Amino acid sequence: MLITGKTRIVGIFGHPIEHTISPYMHNSAFETLGIPYCYLPFDIDPKDLEICIRSINPLGIKGVNITIPFKTQVVPYLDELDSNAKLIGAVNTIEARDGKLIGHNTDGKGFINAFNEEVGISISKRRFVVIGAGGAARAVSTALAAEGAGEIIIINRTSLKGKELASDLLRNFYDLKVSAIEFDPYKINDLIMDGDVIINTTSVGMKKSDPSIIPPDILRSSMAVCDLIYNPPETPLLKAAKSAGVKFMNGLGMLIHQGALSFEIWTGLPAPVEIMRKAMMNVDKLMRNS
Ligand code: NAP
Repeated sequence: MLITGKTRIVGIFGHPIEHTISPYMHNSAFETLGIPYCYLPFDIDPKDLEICIRSINPLGIKGVNITIPFKTQVVPYLDELDSNAKLIGAVNTIEARDGKLIGHNTDGKGFINAFNEEVGISISKRRFVVIGAGGAARAVSTALAAEGAGEIIIINRTSLKGKELASDLLRNFYDLKVSAIEFDPYKINDLIMDGDVIINTTSVGMKKSDPSIIPPDILRSSMAVCDLIYNPPETPLLKAAKSAGVKFMNGLGMLIHQGALSFEIWTGLPAPVEIMRKAMMNVDKLMRNS
């Protein structure tokens, strides 16, 4: 990649940041299209978040992705939120436009695009069981509700957070059936067995020693199972889904599609999704072999 005085900087703010594979995906896309952009990782000390966000415009940075732990913390420092980020209450993409900072959230739509591509069943009227109530759960369940899901059951370890998410969904989507249940491995089986699609939005499954977030023997072949985790590519939950003959997807497709939507916000160009996917498949191969 040739860096010149005309190169435009985009990037990702998070803490820690070494794990991110987004720079590889975006820089592959910029390089293949031959457009003068460069995507960089920024490890931001939480105490410096405000000054870093306020420096985006003076430094001429075109925009950044926001990742753990800053997706909600950045909101007070932005000039505007788009309607989607407002509904979700969190931002994963900042656009610097005309001296202003605009917050977007492409996680939910990224999930829907990947779900349609990889699982390929209709969302309308289906019953979704969402495990977790953090930022990713908010984005995914808001997007599912906007796509006409019939029912969303939130299961979360901290019951108050689950209830808050459920009441935010109800406030915005009057027709949706929503409930929130505290995570208890002994009490949630029946709820899960009644679900059409089970989605793990927790970080359980990232560590080698993690168990499957739900008992593997309750999966039925009519279900679909999604895990937002992409590293490792196959969590214990997805291994269980595979051996039960259940349709499943990991988080890589969501990562690609949320990135493609951010790319379009910053460049105004259609994202080269296949190039971004190819770049990520290379990383995926490396992760599977490591
Ligand atoms: P977050 O806001 O910190 O939320 C984490 C969630 O996990 C909370 O609901 C938390 O429950 C739950 N949790 C954590 N440890 C748990 C445990 N031991 N048992 C039960 N529940 C547990 O994080 P996030 O931003 O939503 O991200 C969550 C996951 O989604 C991460 O693995 C992240 O990598 C992934 N993600 C993937 C993509 C993608 O593009 N594929 C995008 C965004 C996020 P409490 O409320 O009780 O703490």
